[in-house]
Order: sequence, then structure tokens, then C-alpha cells
Amino acid sequence: MANTHLYKPNLVIVISGPSGSGKSTIINALCKSDETLQLSVSATTRKPRPREVDGVDYRFLSKAEFEKHIQQGSFLEWAEYGDNLYGTLKSEIVTAREAGKDSILEIEVKGSLAIREQNLAPARSVLIFIVPPSLTTLEKRLRRRKTESEAELKQRLDIAKSEVQEIKNYDYWVSNPEKAIQEAVRQIQTIIRAERSRIDDKLIETINPLLSIDSAD
Ligand code: 5GP
Repeated sequence: MANTHLYKPNLVIVISGPSGSGKSTIINALCKSDETLQLSVSATTRKPRPREVDGVDYRFLSKAEFEKHIQQGSFLEWAEYGDNLYGTLKSEIVTAREAGKDSILEIEVKGSLAIREQNLAPARSVLIFIVPPSLTTLEKRLRRRKTESEAELKQRLDIAKSEVQEIKNYDYWVSNPEKAIQEAVRQIQTIIRAERSRIDDKLIETINPLLSIDSAD
């Protein structure tokens, strides 16, 4: 990939979108295609779904454990979604940066906006919102995966309506119509490529010595 010799990973890529918008599928494909992306594993008080693995899909915590992390200031952000708590541990971002990787977070809108308001230097955030084709499609996708009760499903659809209102606070939107997942993945790859080419203080720091007359040979 172009620019990799100058680029030092410092992105916190935040991906949001209503439940059923296809975020997880898109993010899995992104991480498979780019080994410099590291998925942040969130903490949650939600119960694991069948096939979810602790430490891989989420760190599944009791409410008391989660609250202890809040008190200790371990979270970069956390939020309530439905009847559960979800949060990003600061250590996830630090570990990714130390491994020379950009972080990718799959989180809901309140947490995303909390990240937007923080100074993450030397990192910086990029907020991407996945837009589903319609509420009817969302409902169909949620019913198909059969992981929620009827009441939880209704709650998720209500949250979806309010989440879409927050799109104005994001940097980019990507649509994810049925059967077009590869197109959505490609679009996010293009956004990431552009963000990695952005001229910021970090790039200037790296590029200055290369441009100085003294170091020319
Ligand atoms: P689910 O229960 O479907 O796995 O996740 C419910 C919602 O919580 C999704 O919108 C998901 O993106 C969000 N979420 C997952 N992890 C985090 C997190 O660490 N922080 C916040 N704020 N939201 C999260």
C-alpha cells in the first residue's frame, strides 16, 4: 500500500450503525483484509450469545466488575444500550498502538460521540456510520439471527430510529444494502486509506527530517 513507509498508525476508527446494519460482518472482512487494523474487544454486561467467546467477541463482565472499571477510570468510553452496559477499555487502544496498528471500534452512538469529544493525541478518531437500507430490512435481519426476544427486538428497532438522527455527528457514512457487503467494505477501505494520507502533526514530525537540507545526501 502507498504511504506505508511514512505512516505511523494513530487512528481510532469508530464504526456505528443500528443493530442489524451489518457492522460486525463488515468489520470482520476489514480486519481480514488489513493486518494493520486491530479490533478493540469491548467489555459488556450482556450475556454471551451462542458461539460468542469471552475475550474474543467481548469481555463478558458482571455489573459489579463493569462498575469497578468505571470507578478505576479504565474506560475510554462506556454507555448503556438496552438494559446492558458496554465499554471500550483504554488498554485496547494502547495495545494496538504499541503493536503498530490502528484500532477499530464497533460501538453505539453515545460512546462514539464521547470519543469524538476527547483529545486522543497522539491518536485521532474517525467516525463512520453504517446506514441500513430501511427499518424493514433491519427488522428482517434481526429476526433472521434469532438472538433477541420479541421485546429486545422492539427495543433495538426503537434505538435504531434514534441512532440514525445522530449521523450528523459522524465524519463519513457508508450504505450497506442487501447483498452489497463487499461494496461497503471497499468504501471503508477507501476512507481508511484517505485518513492514513491525511497531513497531521505526526506526519510532519516524520517528514521534516527527510526534507531537511542537512540530511540530504
Ligand atoms: P450487541 O449486543 O448487539 O453486541 O451490541 C449492542 C450495541 O452495543 C451495538 O450497537 C454495539 O455496537 C454497541 N457496543 C458494543 N461494544 C461497545 C462499546 O464498547 N461501547 C459502546 N458505547 N457501545 C458498544
